[in-house]
Amino acid sequence: MSTVTTTDDVLIGADADAVALADRVIAGLGLPADGIEVADPATGERIASVEDIDVGGALQAVATAHEAGLAWARTTPRQRAEVLHAWHALLVERAEDLAHLISREMGKPLAEARAEVKYGSDFVRWYAEEAVRPAGNFREAPDGGASIVTRRAPVGLAVLITPWNFPLAMATRKIAPALAAGCAAVIKPADLTPLTTLFAVQLARQADVPGELVQIVTTSNASKFSETVLRDERVRKVSFTGSTQVGRTLLRLASDTVLRASMELGGNAPFIVFDDADLDRAIAGALAAKLRNGGQSCIAANRFYVQNGIADAFAEGLAERMRDVSVGAGLGTGTALGPLIDDRAVRRMRALTDGAVALGAQLLAGGTELGSAGHFFAPTVLDRVPAAAEVADIEIFGPLAAIQRFDSEAEVVARANATRLGLAGYVFSESIDRALNVADRLETGLVGINQGLPSNAAAPFGGVKQSGLGREGGGEGLEEYQSVRFYNIARRETH
Ligand code: NAD
Repeated sequence: MSTVTTTDDVLIGADADAVALADRVIAGLGLPADGIEVADPATGERIASVEDIDVGGALQAVATAHEAGLAWARTTPRQRAEVLHAWHALLVERAEDLAHLISREMGKPLAEARAEVKYGSDFVRWYAEEAVRPAGNFREAPDGGASIVTRRAPVGLAVLITPWNFPLAMATRKIAPALAAGCAAVIKPADLTPLTTLFAVQLARQADVPGELVQIVTTSNASKFSETVLRDERVRKVSFTGSTQVGRTLLRLASDTVLRASMELGGNAPFIVFDDADLDRAIAGALAAKLRNGGQSCIAANRFYVQNGIADAFAEGLAERMRDVSVGAGLGTGTALGPLIDDRAVRRMRALTDGAVALGAQLLAGGTELGSAGHFFAPTVLDRVPAAAEVADIEIFGPLAAIQRFDSEAEVVARANATRLGLAGYVFSESIDRALNVADRLETGLVGINQGLPSNAAAPFGGVKQSGLGREGGGEGLEEYQSVRFYNIARRETH
């Protein structure tokens, strides 16, 4: 049973100095007195307002970025790399400011915000390095008579739409490859967390990214924005990270102008633990894959499948560690789990927990709202979750681990793949053969093998099935902003 209570004193409060630091960064953004309100998820209080840009403003942003993009496309790879290196240096220099800002507007613990700054900055450095790598190749026509040279051209103006859960990393993962490829960008951050994007782009401009090249459109009317902007023929690319539902809408819009599209959508990651797994490693991996960002990550462990021989020890061990997690404001000292993004998310955790318990699941930890303000839910473990429970199959997006049990390798692979989504998967086994065989059969874009944190700027992140199209990170992430062309050079004998 859960040992948590619902009183305020279980929550760690925000550190006043840390809040003051974040607020100094916000004050430096030059924001309007009113507009779209941004709230601190730890308290629900308004911390800033950002401009609510209408369709006319969005089209102006398209025009400005498009014009700047024509000149940027003609810069050399080295020039683009230097600017990106300078941006990276500023992101590193201002890492503490960025981390405090991320915690303040999104709620994640400061230690995780620092990790996001490192991860988000890594994309800028990576694409500074990729910008100067060879962007084409050479081949002979098989029947002779021609040489074929390929090269990559910037795809053109890119519209970038990002979610609230990683406000820096989701933005740099798109802006950096777009700039490296020679494209201009119009970015629409989530209205829940626009401040980090505003600050990061301010730093980009200080680093000599041309002022007009990256335009930010903060708006409360996302659908009007996409309906207008994606139909503008100056736009040649859309890159979206968010829910599968919105992704489908954007793909439909993209079809009107046959827009290049990258879609990083929802996940439903299986986390598979075999009897031969190292128990401590599996529990540590589960905590990382479940609690990072409070479970509000598209690659969060979503469906725990644990083999019968190890299931009791795993469930008890995980529950014990989850009960010890300190919950509080992201800017509180020692906070390991912050608030959820809004009250709707808290109500969802409540309903998923109650629904599973009503069907016979065992509540081993948590299961309660915490605090009287803010959006807190206790780290929760449900064991023996029946397959019929809603929590057994939907994207949970919160600090709730739902454990199901299995017998055989074949069975678990079939259950893991019985979903429309396919972003991440996790396999824990000390047998390298078993781990790789199962990883090969999972219908996902990425697999964490004996580890719960698979993301890396050098890796091609992305999903299969309805989790998305295209890849971000790695060399593949740059190709999303390039179109391949070839020159066919006629050859004939000379004497
Ligand atoms: P969301 O789809 O509601 O919103 C994402 C972004 O799209 C926000 O900026 C939002 O304002 C905007 N948006 C919403 N409707 C729009 C429309 N009609 N036209 C244009 N823009 C629109 O998702 P969310 O709640 O912010 O994020 C959670 C979802 O994102 C989860 O499903 C999660 O799995 C997914 N996600 C995926 C990845 C990935 O890389 N695959 C990463 C992070 C989050």
